Amino acid sequence: MSRYPEIAAELRPTRRYNLHSHTQFCDGHAPMSDMVEGALAAGLTHYGFSPHSPLPIPSPCNMSEADVAPFLAEVDRLQALHAGRIRLYKAMEVDYLGPQWGPASPAVQAYGLDYVIGSVHFVPSQDGRYVDTDGPAERFAGYVAGEFHGDLRYVVDTFFSQTLAMIEAGGLDIVGHFDKIGLNASFVQPGIEDEPWYGRHIARVVDAIAASGLTAEINTKAYARRGRFFPATRWWEQLLRAGVPVVVNSDAHDPALTDASRAEAFTLLDSLI
Ligand SMILES: [Zn+2]
Ligand SMILES: [Zn+2]
Repeated sequence: MSRYPEIAAELRPTRRYNLHSHTQFCDGHAPMSDMVEGALAAGLTHYGFSPHSPLPIPSPCNMSEADVAPFLAEVDRLQALHAGRIRLYKAMEVDYLGPQWGPASPAVQAYGLDYVIGSVHFVPSQDGRYVDTDGPAERFAGYVAGEFHGDLRYVVDTFFSQTLAMIEAGGLDIVGHFDKIGLNASFVQPGIEDEPWYGRHIARVVDAIAASGLTAEINTKAYARRGRFFPATRWWEQLLRAGVPVVVNSDAHDPALTDASRAEAFTLLDSLI
């Protein structure tokens, strides 16, 4: 049972939080204890661990089922150690693959997490293979050419239809980086986000999030290196106009980045509200 409504109330008076971070249990680069030290050094008061959840398909970036209990125990240990200094949360970033696996899956719901971030990283190919569309742009371009038979439009359409299906299926609290595909798709086809059909995908996702009552993430992970947030700033007004609550998360994989680019995102948000 999600504790997210309670957590959202705890966070309302502060901006010193980050709800999206990775750890040694998935593809993070540091032990969880170091991530807490990084968060404390950055002055954060609320911090969520959200390793990539177990998946029923092979993935080097995801934690195993066997790691779930040690992960949860480590959050408890760190919370006891830092009681009164920082509030720690147990979460996961759960991939949506389809009706067979996603935030709503009974296995995910049974983990006893404080909240769930739902994200799409894997897009099913025309041949039914799940392809990781995250990661380096050059690798993505290779996947479009090979795995997706050169059909970038199919990849983008499917990314967004999977996102809509995930929202519809429920079981999540926060929709993670909902236009992440835009970064790699723009590498293959510059200007793709200016296309009217692309904008219609965004509008449909924003409407679905608004109707669901879920929170949308503003993800700052790529801002320092790539100069963009997820979702891209061009969609923020639409998101805010639709009344969608947002959280600003660093998606940190490194202790030095627990608060990275969050201030820039808040400045921009303030200028729009
Ligand atoms: Zn992600
Ligand atoms: Zn992440």
